Parts: sequence; structure tokens; C-alpha cells
Amino acid sequence: MTPPPNDPPSDFIRDIVAEDVRSGKHTKIHTRFPPEPNGYLHIGHTKAICLNFGIAREFGGLCNVRMDDTNPEKEETEYVDSIMADVHWLIDGWADKNLCLNSGGAPFFASDCFQPIYGFAVQLVRRGKAYVCDMSAEQTDEYRRVGKESSFRDRSIEENLDLLARMKAGEFPDGARTLRAKIDMQSPNMWLRDPVLYRIRHAQHHQTGDAWCIYPLYDFAHCLSDYLEGITHSLCTLEFEVHRPLYEWILQTLDLPNELPQQIEFARLNLTYTVMSKRKLKQLVDDGLVGGWDDPRLPTISGMRRRGVTASVLRDFSYRIGITKYPSLTEVDALEHAIRAEFNQSALRRLAVLRPLKVTLTNYPEGKTEELDAINNPEDHSAGSRKVPFSRELYIEEADFMETPVPKYYRLKPGGEVRLKYGYIIKCDEVLKDSLGKIVELRCTADLESKSGGPNSNRKVKGTIHWVSAAHALEAEVRLYDRLFTVPDPDAGGDFKSFLNPHSLEIVRAKCEPSLGDAKPELRYQFERLAYFALDPDSQPNELVFNRTVTLRDTWAKEAKK
Ligand code: ATP
Ligand code: MG
Repeated sequence: MTPPPNDPPSDFIRDIVAEDVRSGKHTKIHTRFPPEPNGYLHIGHTKAICLNFGIAREFGGLCNVRMDDTNPEKEETEYVDSIMADVHWLIDGWADKNLCLNSGGAPFFASDCFQPIYGFAVQLVRRGKAYVCDMSAEQTDEYRRVGKESSFRDRSIEENLDLLARMKAGEFPDGARTLRAKIDMQSPNMWLRDPVLYRIRHAQHHQTGDAWCIYPLYDFAHCLSDYLEGITHSLCTLEFEVHRPLYEWILQTLDLPNELPQQIEFARLNLTYTVMSKRKLKQLVDDGLVGGWDDPRLPTISGMRRRGVTASVLRDFSYRIGITKYPSLTEVDALEHAIRAEFNQSALRRLAVLRPLKVTLTNYPEGKTEELDAINNPEDHSAGSRKVPFSRELYIEEADFMETPVPKYYRLKPGGEVRLKYGYIIKCDEVLKDSLGKIVELRCTADLESKSGGPNSNRKVKGTIHWVSAAHALEAEVRLYDRLFTVPDPDAGGDFKSFLNPHSLEIVRAKCEPSLGDAKPELRYQFERLAYFALDPDSQPNELVFNRTVTLRDTWAKEAKK
């Protein structure tokens, strides 16, 4: 079944872009997605990717992926590779993606422009708009806080040019000097109080090796990378709103002949029951609290992909939450709802029993096997049907039997009847227990006339349960994921790790119908009455592993109402 078309939304940023096209300010729209390669991408980045690529494709423009790699110590090639893999995966479903993905999707690097960016720094010094300052980082912070000018502020242009060149040549140790913009130490906007533009770091860089020992700061590099790449609209999250005057000051103070990019801010995506900063996600990974960056409980793109979430769900979700200027916390239920909505349409229905209880049908012939017809997807007739083997010994779900039933319990109980999905009505005659009193087997009789097409096929019983034929069942490891945190906002206060949900992963050995032996990684499965599942990459032909992507209903909402 084809994924949803991802109809473009409308929002204030698209309105600005449309107006710039209408007025002729820009003829070709050019956006960028600029992650720092210091971790894996998360669902928050999905919002930024869908916005930037979405606008590029809607307006016939281009979008660059730019590695914002100005922090040599924190960045790694592993992260660059994972980011590119995630971006490609996410926008793969857009048939026109190659039109908007600049340079065939190869990443740009801020570090590719270290030379011209340095040239702009020299230009600022020549214009008397930047100076070399010998104060320590702490002193600089303190002076900026109180609005006091550095005693190095009035160095001559010649001295500044000489010191900057020597900083670059590696003459000074880390932290000895910085290059600072000369703006306004009294400005109410802290970012305009002579911000640092370059610092000394004798460090290996994953792209440039040891070619540089001075590195531009984000604020200096970002606007200039935007300019050098010909970006028209530089879309970033709200925390950069206060940086915008600096962004504009740098571009306007330099002599730049081409059209200048415009920075526009939007609210970041925050989701309940998770954390979204790469720094925190990295802590969870480094401390071994999750299995890795692609742990299916993490909100990383690779984690969600492994869990079974599809790119079309993520794109659809990103479009639905919309773009605004107001910070908010989005309920994770909205994401789960989007997953269920798509999977209800696309997932193949299968029978699997997660916590097996053996059932023997005493009146069903030993050694006999029937092939029962089962529908693959009631929402999609083109998915057809399949045969499911049925025999004398079956497994049903432990939870589908109660020896002492609660009122209105319509599943199996002693002396009670239930229908086996696609098969017979059975009645429980006897409960067998082990020496500890644990129920180990139910002995039942089947109404052999009650199968579909049989004389009693219309006989009504209140409950229908799923089952698997014991002799034909495939064993599978099933990983049941739940929310990683027990509170909606683990960032609200205290150590976020103290709110980890100790039951966020439960592993069970399940019994599956044989057709699941052909399960494909790209398909999604609804284990009937249970949840939606996807094959895990750990899965082997003889050792199936399934991940629960999402339950059929929101079990947490029920908890909250209790
Ligand atoms: P983190 O705090 O998770 O490291 P970041 O903003 O530092 O986030 P970057 O790699 O710098 O991460 O982000 C790349 C782009 O993605 C930026 O334009 C940033 O604004 C955007 N982005 C990051 N997080 C979110 C989010 N939660 N919602 C929307 N956009 C986001
Ligand atoms: Mg960042």
C-alpha cells in the first residue's frame, strides 16, 4: 500500500518564502539542514529536515545537508555517516527528493569553508570591527556579563592582523587569545557584547586533521556558511532568536556582494516521556543504560527505524505538528497515533502467542492438520489471504484464560466457550496444573461443526481469541518496548536518569504462525489482538526477532484513568 502523500502544510515560514518568490527577492530558494556531527539525529531533527527539504521541494529549490563541524573535540565521522544515512532514509519516500537534495546528497561541511571564513575574519580586523583579546575565557565571560570593555579592545589594526596570523600559525597555546567582534559592550543583547569569533584549539579535526589550530565559533561560522552556500532562508530553532542581531551584524559589516540569507526561527519539537538533546542521549548510550544509539526505545531516527517506525509516519507526523513560534511539549501519543493510523492500513495480520498456554482438543483427531483461511489485512483486500495450520494441540495466550473469572470475562474459563479466530468454538473441560499449582494445560473440546462454512458457523459466543498450532509454531524472540521514562517531562527537574522506566524492555519467547518465517524487514505485522511488530536486524532465518513498534491501543491512557 502506498504511504500517505505528505501534502505540504502551510505555516508562517512558508508564507515568508512564498512572498519572497512572489516579490522576486529570490528566484531559487535554498535551505539547509545543519546538524553538528556530535551524535545521532533524533525525532526533533526530523522536524527540521522535513521543514528544510519540504520547502526546497515545494518551491523547486535546493537543500544542503551541512555538517556544522566547528567543535573538533566532540565530532566524529561515525556521526557524519549516521546522519547522512538517516537523512536519506527519511526523505527517500519523496519521489522528487533528488531535485532538492543538493549535490546528490553528499554533505557540505562548515570546515570546507574554514579558509574563506578566516578571510572574512581578516576583513573584519582590517575594518576595525574585530580585535585579538588576551583575556581568559572566564574573564571574557565576566566582562561581558557586567558590560566592561577589554583593555585589548583598542589594539591597532596592524597588531591585530599580526596576532591573528600568529594565532593561526600555532604560536599560542589553547585559550591564550581569542578573536572578538567589536560591537557594543553596553548592548542589552549579550550576544552583541563583543562576542568571541575564533578560539585556539590544538586538536585533530575529523575533516581537516591538524590543518587548523584556530576554530570559528558557531555564530561566526554559521552565517558565513549560509552566505557561501547561497542559502536564502536559514531556518533554526527559537533559542537562536537572540543570536539573530549578531547573524545580521556579521553579514552586514562585511563587504558581501551577493544576496544575504535571512534567519527565521521556529519552535523545536519536544516530546513527552523522552529526552531529546544529543548530550543526554549520549549519556544514556555511554552509561550503557540503553543498547546503543539505535536502541528502539530512544527517540533517535535510527532507534525509531529499528523499532519499526516508517519514514512516511515520521514525515507525516512532522507535517501534522506544524511549524510555530511557540514552545510546546507534544504528546508522544500523537506519534503513536500516527503509527497506528498508517499500520492499521498497511500491516499484515498474523497470529502469534506471546505468553503461551497449551490447549489440547481432546475430541480432535491426533495427527490431523487442517489449513484454515485467514485474511491478511481487512483494510486492504489486495493483501489477500493465507492458510494457517490447525491441529489438536494449540497455544493460546495465558491472559486469555481465567480459572476464577472476573465478571464480564468473555475469554476462556472453566466450562466456558470461546471462538478461536478463523476456527472452531472450544469449551474448557479441565485445567491441568503442576505440583506448584501453576496451570500448564487446558483440556478442551471443539464444536467441530462451528468452523466457518460449517452448520454451526453462525453460533455466537462472546469472545474470540488468537492461537497457534503447537506442532507448527515457530519460536521467536519478541522485544516488548515501553516508554523509556515514567514521567511526561524527564527534563523538568532533577537527574533525568532517575526517571528511567525499569520496565521499558521485556523480552518474551513467543509462538508464531509458520508464515512469519518469511517475515520481511520492510513489512509491518499486526500480531492480532496484541500490537504492531517489525523484524529486528538481529533476526536470523532460524532465530526470528521481532520488535513491538506500538501497542494496538494506548495502554498508558488507561493507566492514567485508574
Ligand atoms: P541537540 O540539543 O539535540 O544537540 P542541536 O540543536 O544542538 O540539538 P544540531 O545538530 O545543532 O542539534 O541541530 C541541527 C538542526 O536541527 C538545527 O537547525 C536545529 O535547530 C534543529 N533541531 C535540533 N533539535 C530540534 C528539535 N527538537 N526540533 C526541531 N528542530 C531541531
Ligand atoms: Mg547544536
